[in-house]
Amino acid sequence: MAHKKAKCSFCGQERPDLFSGEDGSYICPDCIEAGHAMLMRAMGQAPEPQQAPQPAKKRKPADLGLSLDSLPRPQDIKQFLDLYVIGQEDAKKYLSVAVYNHYKRILQKHDKNEVEIEKSNILLVGSTGTGKTLLARTIAKLLKVPFAIVDATALTQAGYVGEDVESLLTRLLQDCEYDIPKAEQGIVFIDEIDKIARKSENPSITRDVSGEGVQQSLLKLLEGAMINVPPEGGRKHPEQEFLHVETKNILFICGGAFDGIEKKIAQRMNTQVVGFGAQEKAHKVDKSNLLQYIAPHDLKSYGLIPEIIGRLPIITYLHPLDKKALRSILTDPKNAITKQYEKLLEMDGVKLTFAPDMLDYVVDKAVENKLGARGLRGLMESIMIDLMYELPSKKTCDRFEVTKEYAEQKVEKADFCRLKNTEE
Ligand code: ADP
Repeated sequence: MAHKKAKCSFCGQERPDLFSGEDGSYICPDCIEAGHAMLMRAMGQAPEPQQAPQPAKKRKPADLGLSLDSLPRPQDIKQFLDLYVIGQEDAKKYLSVAVYNHYKRILQKHDKNEVEIEKSNILLVGSTGTGKTLLARTIAKLLKVPFAIVDATALTQAGYVGEDVESLLTRLLQDCEYDIPKAEQGIVFIDEIDKIARKSENPSITRDVSGEGVQQSLLKLLEGAMINVPPEGGRKHPEQEFLHVETKNILFICGGAFDGIEKKIAQRMNTQVVGFGAQEKAHKVDKSNLLQYIAPHDLKSYGLIPEIIGRLPIITYLHPLDKKALRSILTDPKNAITKQYEKLLEMDGVKLTFAPDMLDYVVDKAVENKLGARGLRGLMESIMIDLMYELPSKKTCDRFEVTKEYAEQKVEKADFCRLKNTEE
């Protein structure tokens, strides 16, 4: 095997699993496979590959049945998001505009003299459980373009254990039954992008296969390139052709919590707040919520490579959820948890209601335990489990109010059971 910095003499990939020739050249396993397939074909021992798909440039864009008149306008998109996502006004506005522009790009006539509308990938920054994935999922509900959600933590640099970045496109293709022209106009949500930050700000000498290596591979996709994706069901024979997917028109939305980035923001802001008027400026900085001041420079300090940051020109921020927002999440969204329980028991002929102070109690518990919105569901489950078990069999009960006292009792019981389990 080759030494660390070697590159394949055929495809130029730098990877550790190269084979070296006596003349100092190298070859990677992919090129060996491709060479082997060509040789077999030349010797007539393997079938000619099926007609390779036309390169995307010559392919006509898919007709998604959209017209400028029928497009949901940014305000319509935002209204739809409002039905499911509480607060996060800025993020909703940015997303609505980006998605609308994405549609317009797709509809743009490809005339040489036309102004080319550039794609604007988006970065959503906000701590865990503030609604990043929910926003992406809700957008997906509304869209008529293929959509995929993928987790950046699963990705590794090509040639290592884990998923290659091309798998993002496989998900997108699966969403539209491998209709490549459709997938080429889709949207991909990449969650936990912060987890592929490089471990130190200086380029490392040792390989960083789950960090910078992945960012480099991802960059190709974000920039727009023709990517080879394994065919449906994976590549079972070396002679099987890859599918060619052009990513130029795919919109990428990235999300990440960027835990600890506040320190970098504070450092930057401290160094900037000097000179005349500095005192005044410093006053206005809301130190309890520094994330709102996030800028591209902080992302670089955090470990994203500048090229990736350059490809995510829209950065928007999600607010931490306060008590009021949590309380609203319990009852207001179209599919709010309480509405779901009410519906479930209504089907058994029971009218379920929740006392307002009971809902306040759930919110207080979630805040107390630093569980955020994610914890609301768990708390409600522990309160509701006995009722969901018993009420459907009680023929005489046709209404039930969940009171604060009832909730307290159930939560204490759940806490007690958990304590007992940890003691054992
Ligand atoms: P993340 O920001 O970590 O991607 P999620 O979107 O997965 O967070 O949120 C977890 C759960 O919390 C969601 O399924 C939803 O039930 C609830 N939630 C979080 N934020 C909101 C919000 N702004 N509005 C309504 N529900 C929310």
